[in-house]
Amino acid sequence: MMSKAEVKKIVEESIRPLRAALQLHDWQFVLVYDTSLGKDRAACTRDCQRHAATLTFNPAELEDEQDVLWTLLHELLHIYHAEFDLYLDSVKVPVPKQVFDAIEPSFHNACEHVVQKLERLLMLTFKTSPKKLIAAVRRREN
Ligand SMILES: [Zn+2]
Repeated sequence: MMSKAEVKKIVEESIRPLRAALQLHDWQFVLVYDTSLGKDRAACTRDCQRHAATLTFNPAELEDEQDVLWTLLHELLHIYHAEFDLYLDSVKVPVPKQVFDAIEPSFHNACEHVVQKLERLLMLTFKTSPKKLIAAVRRREN
C-alpha cells in the first residue's frame, strides 16, 4: 500500500519518458488516483478516435516504485490495442445485449494476454524494464 502522493510523484515523473519510449507521443493522458478499482492496481480507458486515455492508479494496491513503474508500463501497453476498441464499440450497438455481454469478457481477456506477451517480450527478450526505458529516453534527450 502506498500513499496517493507517492504514486502520483512516480507516475508524473515517468509517464513522459515512458510514453516516448513506447512511441505514444500522439496520445494524451488523464491521470487519476483513487481506490475505486477494488483489487485492481490500475486501469486504462481509451478513446481511440481522440487519442486520449485515462489511467487510473489504485494506491491501496500498489507496493513500491517498481510496482508503480511496471503497472504504468502495463497500462501504456494497453494503448497498442486501442484500434480494437473501435471494433468492440462498433458491434455493441447492432448486437443483442446478451450476445455482447458474452463477447466482451473474452475481448478483454485477449487484450490482457497481448499486453502480457508484450511485457514478457520487453522483459525477457529485450532484457529491459521501465527504469531502463526511461534512462534510454533521457540519454537520447541529453
Ligand atoms: Zn491490463
